[in-house]
Amino acid sequence: MARGRLAGGALILALAAGLALVWAAKTRVLPDRYNPFEPLDPSEALNPVTDAKLWLADRDGPLCRAALARATAFRLMPGRADPPGCSRDHTVTISGLSEAKLRPEEMNCTIALRLFLLERHVIQPAARLHFNSGVATIAHFGSYSCRTIAGSWRMSEHATANAIDLAGFRLGNGRLISLKKDWNGAADARGFLREVREGACRLFNTTLSPDYNADHADHFHLDMGLFHTCR
Ligand SMILES: [Zn+2]
Repeated sequence: MARGRLAGGALILALAAGLALVWAAKTRVLPDRYNPFEPLDPSEALNPVTDAKLWLADRDGPLCRAALARATAFRLMPGRADPPGCSRDHTVTISGLSEAKLRPEEMNCTIALRLFLLERHVIQPAARLHFNSGVATIAHFGSYSCRTIAGSWRMSEHATANAIDLAGFRLGNGRLISLKKDWNGAADARGFLREVREGACRLFNTTLSPDYNADHADHFHLDMGLFHTCR
């Protein structure tokens, strides 16, 4: 009986909190960055509501592309007939983030959006902290690849452009930080790369680093598949 009353009380509290949130959102008492009903502005600092906004953008292509358009230029790619098990659905091609450039690459909007957030709010500040220089270029091994996971029958998230592999970072001062050579290299590079992994784990469902296995000795694998892994 007491437990029933407790559950009832919790339900009423949750309802009241929900109503208060809707009221605050509608009356614009909340700043946009804390209002889950306002589209994500990728240049705003990450906060707990960012996750709710990303969750909504993951499920709504136009909402994702509107958020991405606030952040960087992109090209919406046409649909194509891909082999069974592989697809590119409303993918976008990007070649730049807030500061860093990358070789033009086609990927899901949600991967592009999260990559932007990672670069803007994790990679650039970490590079300034560890190297006193920003990142000018991000080297990658691409997103779409119609294949299974190495050593498995399961299709890779790369088969649906739902992943990206990052191989290294060229700093503004010319220094190259690569996963292969620097994961266990100089202290500043080690610290930087581990900070990038931490940030990626916050933004992507799966983050695999050289700590995971030998297949990942030279890149970070980031994807938005169903499983949560941070290794
Ligand atoms: Zn990968």
